[in-house]
Amino acid sequence: MICVSLGRTRHSAFLEGHKLLAEKKAELVELRVDWMRKRPDIGRLLTDRPTPVVVTCRRREDKGLWKGTEEQRQTLLREAIIAGAEYVDIEEDIAPSIPRYGDTKRIVSYHNFDETPDDLEKIYGRMTKCDPDIIKIVTMANSPLDNVRLLQLAKNADVPTVAFCMGEMGLPSRVLCARTGAPFTYAGFSREREMAPGQLTYEEMRYLYRFDRITEKTKVFGVLGDPIAHSLSPLLHNTAFRKQKFDGVYLPLRVPADVFEATLKAFDDLGIDGYSVTIPHKQAAIEFADQPDIQADLIGASNTLFRKEGAWQATNTDYDAIIETLTAAISDERTSGPVLKDKRVLILGAGGVARAAACAMQQQGASVVVSNRTKARAKELAEEIGCLTVPWENRGAEKLDVLINCTSVGMQPNVNESPYEQHWLHESMVVFDTVYTPENTLLMKHAKERGCRTASGIEMFVRQAARQFELFTDSEAPREYMTETLRRYLSAAR
Ligand code: NAP
Repeated sequence: MICVSLGRTRHSAFLEGHKLLAEKKAELVELRVDWMRKRPDIGRLLTDRPTPVVVTCRRREDKGLWKGTEEQRQTLLREAIIAGAEYVDIEEDIAPSIPRYGDTKRIVSYHNFDETPDDLEKIYGRMTKCDPDIIKIVTMANSPLDNVRLLQLAKNADVPTVAFCMGEMGLPSRVLCARTGAPFTYAGFSREREMAPGQLTYEEMRYLYRFDRITEKTKVFGVLGDPIAHSLSPLLHNTAFRKQKFDGVYLPLRVPADVFEATLKAFDDLGIDGYSVTIPHKQAAIEFADQPDIQADLIGASNTLFRKEGAWQATNTDYDAIIETLTAAISDERTSGPVLKDKRVLILGAGGVARAAACAMQQQGASVVVSNRTKARAKELAEEIGCLTVPWENRGAEKLDVLINCTSVGMQPNVNESPYEQHWLHESMVVFDTVYTPENTLLMKHAKERGCRTASGIEMFVRQAARQFELFTDSEAPREYMTETLRRYLSAAR
């Protein structure tokens, strides 16, 4: 079950918000009465309530908004109990002064906005003595490892327990507490009205992560990176899981580089079955794996870790995605066999994507030239894989069949920039822009105007994710559906 936290300054807005949540099928609503400007009228808020409620009045020291005295606050909580609220939230230290009465269930809570303290078990032990029906422990995650500690605590708990971490690094436990037998988790009404750092919205919790369907059997995957908040992989993978009725959940996992290995080892306790890997962990992922495959080894970077026969395998699905994307753009009904062999390919950039593209093109028998703004990086890449370079200022003079942009030029917000002048393009060229925000970059627009065949970053992004989906689930990915989902999301986000 998801408990949606609702905070409003006026009674009428509270009642309206509550009705709306009930219409959206919320099963439990937390009324954060500390948000109210005037003294809350508990009777008015609870009469004819459309869903069961948790009444919470958070004091300032626990990052609430309550302006009255502590005595008035406790009086309100007692009123809520007498009025028959389904649950009241009472902090551990005041629990002895709020007696049990009627059917109202007592959520005895502990919040720590600074850290996940070392003495969690001691705190928990104290809370069990406060006559709780439910124990709620919410702490700040300063490391991804804090999630593991809280989830383990909840798993071994004797009393029904909701335990998760706050902050961006705490997201895994907000979702995975479903697997510890938590009676519910908390979510927010909307992104603008976030009540605690890192809180997910009701929509995200219900429709993206499908909290209510998560059980101990649910397979868990995630994307490892730092930063990670803007990754589109959770959208793509969770949507694909839902479409294929696969019992899995996919999480954004913010993991700082200095705790990469320790986190992955600790996440073993959560039974995570596979990871997408992004900046800055692509090289560390190879070192972590028991067996990097030939593509990952060649590129020196992995974007995927998955379990096979108990061992961690590393691969790089960008490699196949780049080949497939270009092959689809070049092929027509007359082509057969390897279409990239002997093609002259110019790769712009010398970062991670350029490296994957250069290796893939070399292996396909293309003749590869790399050009990068910082010459030394181009030289280094070319020497490693055995291809040529051209100075950045001369990139327009190269004769070529295929142009691949692997720089970030043209990406939002710099949508009026292109890494290649339009008059350098000619209609026999295939132009592949790996940038996907936006899909129709200035380079893509120029290429279409010149009559070139084109391939987009979205096609590549979906293909690399689809390949991961297949490695994770051992079943075919809904590629078209994934493409549609991504396009719809990006056009709505514009
Ligand atoms: P990266 O390792 O940071 O490399 C960025 C590259 O862009 C470097 O070669 C850099 O040149 C160049 N660059 C940046 N600003 C430039 C400018 N103003 N003028 C010229 N060159 C510039 O990043 P990456 O991981 O390789 O990603 C590169 C791009 O690929 C991303 O921006 C993203 O749009 C795209 N991408 C696509 C997919 C997909 O699936 N479609 C996946 C990941 C990334 P210097 O060496 O001179 O700094």
